[in-house]
Amino acid sequence: MFNHNATNIAIRKPEASGKFSSKSAWNAVRLKTAITPWSSTIWFKGAIPKHSIVSWKAIINKLSTTDRLSFLNSGQNRRCILCSTEPETVNHLFFNCGFSSWIWRSILWRIGTQRRLKKNVAEEEQWIRDNFTGEGQRTTALKYGFQPTIYHIWRERNSRLFENKVNHKTQILRHVIQDIKVKINDDNRRDTPNDANRKAAHLFR
Ligand SMILES: [Zn+2]
Repeated sequence: MFNHNATNIAIRKPEASGKFSSKSAWNAVRLKTAITPWSSTIWFKGAIPKHSIVSWKAIINKLSTTDRLSFLNSGQNRRCILCSTEPETVNHLFFNCGFSSWIWRSILWRIGTQRRLKKNVAEEEQWIRDNFTGEGQRTTALKYGFQPTIYHIWRERNSRLFENKVNHKTQILRHVIQDIKVKINDDNRRDTPNDANRKAAHLFR
């Protein structure tokens, strides 16, 4: 059965023990792309590997969207399974789709930002880097919000496509917020709890 938690990683290196894992794959990719402008948004310490890898693939347009696999279906692009209105491309999914833009806007709204979204996910990521720096609560919230948003939208797309399971957008938003809270709480447990983390946690209560 298709496992929508798996990420179809192309680059795999074994750990010292010789064992392959998503963690060792994540490290291999992270080291290869450490000098790219978006590495700080994708490969930061404490990021969840499966979230980082799906987000990285979205930014470099390597997710298996229908437009990239059109050779399998005689060049016919299937419509987006989340909104049924536009052909599925990575730029549509992140975040020109009504379903996914609602989720990302909901995260941005919680950190006090309402604006027109950029036309593709790479520009959206650049907007985060251009506008959120330092250690403030909103930077923390966005750092932890961007990747799970991409991951859970992609997971829902796969769930509908391969398992015929449909979740409402409010359920996906709940999953994203749950992951953000877990990461903020992890940070508070691991490091000395800081003001930015405490305030970021309040944004998602
Ligand atoms: Zn759509």
